[in-house]
Amino acid sequence: MNVVVLVKQVPDTATRIKIAAGGAEIDRQGVNFVVNPYDEFAIEEAIRIKEQHGGQVTVLTVGDAKAEEALRTALAMGADEAVRVDAQVQDPMTTARAIAFALRDLSPDLVLAGKQAVDDDQGQVGPLVAALLDWPQVTVVTKLELTGEGGVAEREVEGGIEVVEFSLPAVITAQKGLNEPRYASLPGIMKAKRKEIRQISADASVTGEPAVRTRSLALPSARSAGKILTGMDAPAAAAELVRLLHEEAKLI
Ligand SMILES: Cc1cc2nc3c(=O)[nH]c(=O)nc-3n(C[C@H](O)[C@H](O)[C@H](O)COP(=O)(O)OP(=O)(O)OC[C@H]3O[C@@H](n4cnc5c(N)ncnc54)[C@H](O)[C@@H]3O)c2cc1C
Repeated sequence: MNVVVLVKQVPDTATRIKIAAGGAEIDRQGVNFVVNPYDEFAIEEAIRIKEQHGGQVTVLTVGDAKAEEALRTALAMGADEAVRVDAQVQDPMTTARAIAFALRDLSPDLVLAGKQAVDDDQGQVGPLVAALLDWPQVTVVTKLELTGEGGVAEREVEGGIEVVEFSLPAVITAQKGLNEPRYASLPGIMKAKRKEIRQISADASVTGEPAVRTRSLALPSARSAGKILTGMDAPAAAAELVRLLHEEAKLI
C-alpha cells in the first residue's frame, strides 16, 4: 500500500500574527512554523497502515524550501520518502492543482490529508484534490480500516457517527481522534536530517489562476480590559459580580 500524506507547514497557533505590508498576507518574520496538527493525525495513520499492510509512506508539501522542515518532521516520525512541490500557490484551487499534478506521477493507492489547515481554515484542499483526480473522498475521518480494494471509514457527523465504504485510490481527510500521533525518535530525527527531498516543479501552466483572491486580512479588535473586584468580602463581591453581569455584560 503506497500512501501519500499531504502536509502543510503552518504558524504555531500560539504565535502573535502580524499582517505584512500590502495587507493580504501575514508577516512570516519571526513566526514559529509547525506541521499542521491535523496532518500529524494523517502522518500517524499512514505509518500505522504501512506497519499493518506494508508499502511505503511519502509525505508531500507544496511550498518553498522552508516548508521542507515540515517534511523532515514527518520523516522523523517514520515516513519513508518526501516530496516538495515547488509552486506559487495562492488559494485552495492552485494548491490542489499542484498536488494533483504531483500525485499523477506518484500514483499512490491512498492519499491522507488533514481535515483543515489551522492557518487558513479552508478545509478545501483534500476534497479538491479528490475532485481533480476523480477519486472517492471521505472527510473528517475518526476511524479507518483498509480491506484490500477499498476501505471502511467512520466520520463525525452532528450527534453521531457515519460509517462509509470507499474504493481505492481515495482521498481521506483526518479529524482529531483518528489516532494519537507518535513523537519522533532521536534516531528518526538524525536519519531525517540526511534524507534527500525530491522536488517537483509545478509552474503557472499547472497551477493556473486562483479561484479566489485574498483582498485583505484584519486582526480581531482589541478586547476591553478585565475587571478585578477587590476590597470586599465574599457576599459583597458575589452581589457586585451579579450586578456587573446583569447591568454591564448583560449576560444574566
Ligand atoms: C499572498 C498569498 C501567499 C500564499 N502563500 C502560500 C505559501 O507560501 N504556502 C502555502 O501552502 N500556501 C500559500 N498560500 C495559499 C493559502 O495559504 C493556502 O494554501 C490555501 O488557501 C489552502 O487553504 P488552507 O491552507 O486553509 O488548506 P485546507 O484546505 O484547510 O487544508 C486541508 C489539508 O490540505 C493539505 N494542504 C493544504 N495546503 C497544503 C500545502 N501547501 N501542501 C500540502 N498539503 C496541503 C493539508 O493536509 C491540510 O491539512 C498563499 C495565499 C496567498 C493569498
